[in-house]
Amino acid sequence: MANFRIGFGYDVHQLQEGYEFWLGGIKLEHEKGAVGHSDADVLIHVICDALLGAANLRDIGYHFSDKDPKYKGIDSKILLREVMALVRKEGYEIGNIDSTVCLQIPKLNPHIPSMKTCLAEVMGTDISNISIKATTTEQLGFVGRQEGISAYCVVLIHKA
Ligand SMILES: [Zn+2]
Repeated sequence: MANFRIGFGYDVHQLQEGYEFWLGGIKLEHEKGAVGHSDADVLIHVICDALLGAANLRDIGYHFSDKDPKYKGIDSKILLREVMALVRKEGYEIGNIDSTVCLQIPKLNPHIPSMKTCLAEVMGTDISNISIKATTTEQLGFVGRQEGISAYCVVLIHKA
């Protein structure tokens, strides 16, 4: 058995007016933003959870409690850097990441290349290892009503 492990992440944040909208490490211009204890970057959060799951290191809330004032408003890129350090400490390196963001508006496709560049730099991996996909939910549910944003991610890691 090769030393491969797979991980999965899922996360949701509310969208409200008056909040900044951080996604995939970059700031989007939109009338609403994501609400959370940190900067509420749902894409980074699912990548963190998938990486932690793959290495069997619990989840993002276990390492960075939303009760801890230290993490209030924190840039999620800092959390992702720390997660990568934890995963590498266990002797693993990223194989590839595949993610899907569910959002009704705005259209994410024009922003995906900058998100990939940003995340590759933060994770210290090649941009070709990071896939980001976007979908609406066809006006259905909390995403369709523009009340929230959700994301899913799977990641493969292997012994370095
Ligand atoms: Zn989150």
